[in-house]
Amino acid sequence: MSKIVKIGKVLIGGGNPIAIQSMTNTKTAEIEHTTRQIKLLQKAGCEIVRVAVPDLESARAVKEIKKNVDIPIVADIHFDYRLAIEAIKSGADKIRINPGNIGEDWKIKELAQIAKQYQIPIRVGSNIGSLKRDFEQKYDRATALAESALHEVHLLEKFDFFNIVVSVKSSDVLETIKANEYVAHRVDYPIHVGITEAGTYDTSIIKSSVGIGYLLLQRIGDTVRVSIAGDPIREVYVARRLLVSLHLRKGGQVIACPTCARTEFDVETIASQVESLADETGLTIAVMGCVVNGIGEGKHADIGVAGTKDGAVIFKDGSIIKVVKKEKIYDELTAMIKKTTNVNVE
Ligand code: SF4
Repeated sequence: MSKIVKIGKVLIGGGNPIAIQSMTNTKTAEIEHTTRQIKLLQKAGCEIVRVAVPDLESARAVKEIKKNVDIPIVADIHFDYRLAIEAIKSGADKIRINPGNIGEDWKIKELAQIAKQYQIPIRVGSNIGSLKRDFEQKYDRATALAESALHEVHLLEKFDFFNIVVSVKSSDVLETIKANEYVAHRVDYPIHVGITEAGTYDTSIIKSSVGIGYLLLQRIGDTVRVSIAGDPIREVYVARRLLVSLHLRKGGQVIACPTCARTEFDVETIASQVESLADETGLTIAVMGCVVNGIGEGKHADIGVAGTKDGAVIFKDGSIIKVVKKEKIYDELTAMIKKTTNVNVE
């Protein structure tokens, strides 16, 4: 089991729940804009949020952003160690650096001293895109990724800094798995897992589910990020559903039939519409195209709907509780969910 590391109010490692992480894609220095996105991410279920700090203005913006939000902020810094120091002084709850591009060891030493003084962790690690040539020449790609990260870990340890989180990421699933296994067998710091640059939505959810899922089932990984090109809110939903599907987190889900010639209503639309309700309420909701198979196959759901010739039936525990007209399926289903959970469904 990994060590426990504290990121703001969130504890990771040591058997704590796997935390969902994402990253803003606003200009960090645009405080209002960034704050709004962080709040949306948090509402979606994000527990740790990373912001890019490409300049001094962004490093200083962390201080103002922190006043407006209630979620740990990780400052992501490349190249200029002074930005990391400024972000720490602005209240960042963790910094993420790549020592390889920060430069001389004395800069890392100074950074480690300040992070220690402010009692915040540092995430180090490697991405396949920024591997140093000597590691690439010496090892296969996955091992190079892992050895490069371990080199950075040992550098921090040399400066008496042990409040560390590690990550090793590739856009290749098998490389990421192998590199994480390698690191996990050698150090006991918490590991942040994800497939980097995983691509657009469909590709990313496949690669991330396979890669992150495989690692988590081996108990490797303490925080996760599903990297998807575009709106980061979707990253959080996917990460959440991934954790729920692995039984690593309680939560709702939608069971929907694949549809066939017996389908009596637009299953795909209703299933998509109730997906956020499942997230909000924690219920398992079955959306089934017909009563022939639907009620039986959806009987383990908390509530379900199955199509009939004239509309649909809403069922619970395998028994019909209401007959509804086709055009009222969504309204009646949401009303019933509201009644079941006392959740204020909009
Ligand atoms: S539940 Fe009914 S409509 Fe859906 S796939 Fe099964 S048989 Fe077809």
